[in-house]
Amino acid sequence: MINADLEKVILSAEEINSRILEVADEINRHYHHTVREIILITLLDGAIVFTADLIRHLSVPLRLDCIRVSSYGNSTNPETAPRILGTLKSDVEDKHVLLVDDILDTGNTMQKVFSEVAAKKPASLKTCVFLDKPDRRQNNFQADWSGFSIPDEFVVGYGLDYAGRYRELPYLGTLKPSIYSQSSS
Ligand code: 5GP
Ligand code: MG
Repeated sequence: MINADLEKVILSAEEINSRILEVADEINRHYHHTVREIILITLLDGAIVFTADLIRHLSVPLRLDCIRVSSYGNSTNPETAPRILGTLKSDVEDKHVLLVDDILDTGNTMQKVFSEVAAKKPASLKTCVFLDKPDRRQNNFQADWSGFSIPDEFVVGYGLDYAGRYRELPYLGTLKPSIYSQSSS
């Protein structure tokens, strides 16, 4: 049964789960035998579902840290200048860091977080995103690993929300246009 607010499913739970195994495998091969441990920084709230599934297939030992970046609020348009809210608990200097986000859209969020973390002089800094919307990019940011490339459509599910809802859906889809014209109550 698909959620009644969805117009269509773009990625099924099965497609997502099998791609995550492939991405985890690529990450494992990259770090295998070369690093003892990584610090994986996940961007709240959207990336928690992807991160939770991904890390259970990683063989490189890791420490998990979280960062929160100001979000869309209740709209579907990105803020032009994302702000990092709060601080990391880890000291990343000389550590191998992997940044994980739900979606690379304009690229502004990743660019901002990447440069702030890079300034702390990690031994290496890599990025992994669940989704990539290359058509929307406002800079030349590219993730080292990406789950799926998708067209320019606003998507929900698998951690991604609209006005705080739909994160729990195990698949990814688009909303019916009527949902955007309703109030959030
Ligand atoms: P960027 O800074 O790359 O434009 O946007 C990154 C953030 O915007 C993502 O972490 C995500 O929270 C949000 N975002 C971008 N596109 C979508 C989308 O299609 N659906 C949802 N739910 N959030 C999105
Ligand atoms: Mg986000």
